[in-house]
Amino acid sequence: MSLPEFKLLRPRSLEEAIAHLAKHPGAIRVIAGGTDLIPSMRQKLFEPAYVLDLRHVAELKGIRERQGSGVEIGALTSLTAIEHSDVLRCRYPVLTEAAATVASPVIRNMGTIGGNICLDTRCLWYNQSLTWRKGCGFCIKKDGDLCHVAPGGTKCWAAFSGDTPPALLCLGAEVEIVGPVGTRRIPLSEFYTGLGDTYRVLQPDELLTRIFLPEGTANYRGVYRKLRIRGSIDYPLAGVAIAMKRSNGHVVDARVALTAVNPAPVLVKGASEALRGQRLDEALAEKVGALAAKTAKPLTTSALTPEYRREMIRVFTKRAVLAAGTN
Ligand SMILES: Cc1cc2nc3c(=O)[nH]c(=O)nc-3n(C[C@H](O)[C@H](O)[C@H](O)COP(=O)(O)OP(=O)(O)OC[C@H]3O[C@@H](n4cnc5c(N)ncnc54)[C@H](O)[C@@H]3O)c2cc1C
Ligand code: SF4
Repeated sequence: MSLPEFKLLRPRSLEEAIAHLAKHPGAIRVIAGGTDLIPSMRQKLFEPAYVLDLRHVAELKGIRERQGSGVEIGALTSLTAIEHSDVLRCRYPVLTEAAATVASPVIRNMGTIGGNICLDTRCLWYNQSLTWRKGCGFCIKKDGDLCHVAPGGTKCWAAFSGDTPPALLCLGAEVEIVGPVGTRRIPLSEFYTGLGDTYRVLQPDELLTRIFLPEGTANYRGVYRKLRIRGSIDYPLAGVAIAMKRSNGHVVDARVALTAVNPAPVLVKGASEALRGQRLDEALAEKVGALAAKTAKPLTTSALTPEYRREMIRVFTKRAVLAAGTN
């Protein structure tokens, strides 16, 4: 599958990048590592007139400790750098564990944390070649007006399938967004809309520039569990992250988040309340697993059945809760 024609823009600074975005609204697409965008462009899911390559914007790279106020990560930082960061492994282990499960080492060398957060949602009916989609019929997410997964509905249910966002949600991360009209900083939980088509609040002329990990969740124990078809290289079809602080054998604070089973990564409703102040045991882990299965809304967007993915969310959550109590 060939790439559609486009003009490549290579800014050297953030200011230059924003100026390009402002000049070509709606006709431009940002590329970071390109590990998701390039396959999608080959499938003609995106055919932008301009592609804005961020690779030479040095100010968007790196992991920096901020004295007393957590850690800041540039959006262009590679997943390999996240995976091998001593600071992150010591202070925010759930993030390094999740990053280490993305695809394969080669893809993690190219892929960035910003690209992982901005990752397009996935569906069996969408991530296909143009010929395939023409043959089977277009859908709401691209060029059509119906949904093959939930016929009769008007909503797209494509699943958000990034590995690091659930870890970041558990840590209470915030993201910085920069565009021609200025800079804003929002909790990551507000970055996603919950819709499969317009899945993020980012405007076409905006960039995700930095991720902030708060001091408050530093040193929380962390666990990430992921269901995938090929163990060596694959997107999650269900994923669970947990970050937990304990003292004297009791949970002081904890958050559990899911990926790949909803159109957005989501925090498990009621999990923090169920865990807080409790001593971890099998029954409590079972209870949190049931809450996670209730939050998960998988549909037939992938090769595995929704029932199996929901059940694996329950099982993985239970195991992750127990593992967070022992690691
Ligand atoms: C075989 C294969 C297996 C994969 N397995 C996994 C997996 O297991 N888990 C997983 O999470 N992902 C997986 N991926 C997807 C992808 O490799 C990763 O999600 C990666 O982190 C994407 O980052 P990138 O920098 O390459 O993004 P790109 O492809 O460059 O961009 C992805 C999207 O984000 C936008 N974007 C990127 N950076 C910014 C920014 N700073 N501001 C605004 N928009 C931005 C782009 O416009 C595009 O829409 C896989 C990909 C392949 C090809
Ligand atoms: S969930 Fe429905 S509308 Fe969305 S990509 Fe899949 S088939 Fe298309």
